[in-house]
Amino acid sequence: MQPFLLESEVKKMYKSPIEIFVDDMITEYENGIVKVLQKYKISCNKEELTKALVYDRDQYKKGFEEGKASVQKIGEWIDGVDVPNRNPYLHLANKKYCSKCLNEAYWDSDYGQQLFDFCPNCGADMRGE
Ligand SMILES: [Zn+2]
Repeated sequence: MQPFLLESEVKKMYKSPIEIFVDDMITEYENGIVKVLQKYKISCNKEELTKALVYDRDQYKKGFEEGKASVQKIGEWIDGVDVPNRNPYLHLANKKYCSKCLNEAYWDSDYGQQLFDFCPNCGADMRGE
């Protein structure tokens, strides 16, 4: 179990490569209009910033790949097989079925069976690896 960390302890672990300092505030009054300008100074450690950005990108890529792998289903359009005494919609040799959910490929009355890149029923990726 991870020990609880105080916010001050977390700040000690990571120092941002970018620091922003509040600087002078300039106030001007002219013709009934008050203009206020707050100045800031920004300090940037380029080497540390580059390291942080590379780390962030790697973390994003790793998380994306892990998430994708956890939900991705690879399937293929398989030929139906005539099986006596079974539901004919699931077992017609002249039609294609999703290998993952076993649903029939989408049927278009004008164009016939449509073998999409993704199964419209379960989302399985049919493009091959
Ligand atoms: Zn499917």
